Amino acid sequence: MTDIDHQSSTVLLTGAAGFIGSHLAQRLLKAGTGVVAVDNLDPFYDQRLKRENLELVEAAAAKNRARFEFVRADIADASEIRAVFERCKPTGVIHLAAKAGVRPSLADPVGYARANVLGTAVILEEARRARCSRIVMASSSSVYGNGLVVPFREDADTNSPISPYASTKRACELLASTHHHLTGMPTACLRFFTVFGPRQRPDLAIQSFITKIAAGHTITMFGDGSMSRDFTYIDDITAGILAAYERVPQHGYRVWNLGGNHPVRLDQMIDTIARTVGKPANIERQPMQPGDVLRTWADLTRSQHELGFAPSTSFEDGVRAQWDWNRSRLA
Ligand code: NAD
Repeated sequence: MTDIDHQSSTVLLTGAAGFIGSHLAQRLLKAGTGVVAVDNLDPFYDQRLKRENLELVEAAAAKNRARFEFVRADIADASEIRAVFERCKPTGVIHLAAKAGVRPSLADPVGYARANVLGTAVILEEARRARCSRIVMASSSSVYGNGLVVPFREDADTNSPISPYASTKRACELLASTHHHLTGMPTACLRFFTVFGPRQRPDLAIQSFITKIAAGHTITMFGDGSMSRDFTYIDDITAGILAAYERVPQHGYRVWNLGGNHPVRLDQMIDTIARTVGKPANIERQPMQPGDVLRTWADLTRSQHELGFAPSTSFEDGVRAQWDWNRSRLA
């Protein structure tokens, strides 16, 4: 079921050079949807990876003869973003651009607030001025903080995030809720639970451990190994984003969890990676880091019911796909 005419739609997609954004752009273009990709190629990780991501997106556009344009712009620069909306006239917005990552946010809370909170306020305002049909935005499981009741439901208390990053994501949800209240624009916030798969951000644990274990380097395990994450495979996430984009007009303002539904402990994760790579993991133990939550686990009742969201890639299969991608780059 869809209320989207893909051929005549143009989505303004922020963060399109990043991990999730580039996969989503490829998927939109494959469906014939036009994409105006906005990204400032933030130097948080190697810009060459982002340029490689964009090359794949451009190839998808060419193959599917879909409208595509990349605009290098900072979402916190209101006049630059206004000019993009006025020139490109998107029909809707998917807003994924952000400074991501929990630990680095402790060292740069102001930079995170600028990119994430100010940047989101700019995107919401320009979507309003451009009379876009809808906006879907990336939030994060980190808004649940050290929530005691698992799995995390969307209506759980989210007033106690424990990192600057998580606070910015919660602030963005509040801006989005107010935006919907004042404009009536269908608006969704998607709480992603640790996303993995080919092209994963190099700062995230699976990608970092794969490269280190493959190279025979020591990895650092924070905590006693019992910390757990509800890892979610990239193709499941992009399917969930598209379902939210299609269905949010039926809901007004909505928060949806997008998770894998199978939390994996850190020590199990390391075992799986070592088995997949075929090398032992040399582990150095360190205490848990400030800002890290003990566990994440998505309650998917709402997203299953309202979006038909059904993650289908197992953790083992996803790690295998991510390792295969790493190997193809090394070859
Ligand atoms: P990513 O860093 O690969 O992608 C984010 C992109 O945003 C980058 O290409 C970056 O250059 C761009 N960006 C950053 N600041 C910008 C600015 N001021 N103006 C324009 N572009 C800017 O990260 P990702 O893992 O693909 O995450 C995408 C979104 O999903 C983010 O909002 C992130 O917070 C959220 N999220 C990700 C995960 C995950 O596990 N990957 C989990 C929860 C939430």
